[in-house]
Amino acid sequence: MIEPILVLRGLKAGYGDFQALFGIDLDLREGEVLALIGANGAGKSTLIRSIMGLVPSQREMIRFRGEAIGGMRPDRIAGRGIALVPEGRRLFRSLTVEENLMIGGERGRPGVWTLDTVYSLFPALQERCHELGTALSGGQQQMVAIGRALMANPEVILFDEISLGLAPVVIKDIYAALPAIIRTGVSAILVEQDVGRALSAAHRFVCLQEGRISLAGEPRSFTRADITAAYFGA
Ligand code: ATP
Repeated sequence: MIEPILVLRGLKAGYGDFQALFGIDLDLREGEVLALIGANGAGKSTLIRSIMGLVPSQREMIRFRGEAIGGMRPDRIAGRGIALVPEGRRLFRSLTVEENLMIGGERGRPGVWTLDTVYSLFPALQERCHELGTALSGGQQQMVAIGRALMANPEVILFDEISLGLAPVVIKDIYAALPAIIRTGVSAILVEQDVGRALSAAHRFVCLQEGRISLAGEPRSFTRADITAAYFGA
């Protein structure tokens, strides 16, 4: 069996007195796309922000390649090889497309992802590489955000709501890039509101409901009704 690269055990996390996650067990295996689905407020962002060290957790609750990393500083976690594509893209407003990408690579690891390989994944970015990132369309900004994460050559990439607010045709382009990313050996957790899209892109899924796992497995093992019930609570 392939060893999981990222292991969560009993992950509890929240904001001050408010608890958002109640003991999450989850494994991410090498080379897989794991979809994290669930209604608004279910705890999806909290979960991936905990992995990234942006929401505190206890050290042993999160292990990456065998090392306990829960609650470590985000820059240290990034240095280990985990990258986040944040909800809302969060580009540096005063920087060009190329500068935004270069920042992703600055403290990153060596690997296949360079400006050239990011541009060949998203050719539209090369044409506009000297424009401000924020002058681009929403879809192109999302490509910059993904490219910036790739430039660090992560082993695990966490995508938070990459299709939110984008036109269907652009979403299709972005999802079309996912297999090429995974082929380079990256594993991914994909947070997505569009359940159909998430399930068709993923090897396995985890459904959260009010901070707990309500269903998990391979999409083909469940009916749409099973998944809807786990999503909304039946
Ligand atoms: P969405 O799709 O709406 O982003 P989500 O599944 O990602 O939902 P989270 O954003 O993780 O859910 O939120 C989980 C719970 O934590 C919600 O009840 C939310 O109101 C709460 N929460 C999220 N961020 C904060 C915060 N910064 N301070 C306090 N509570 C928060």
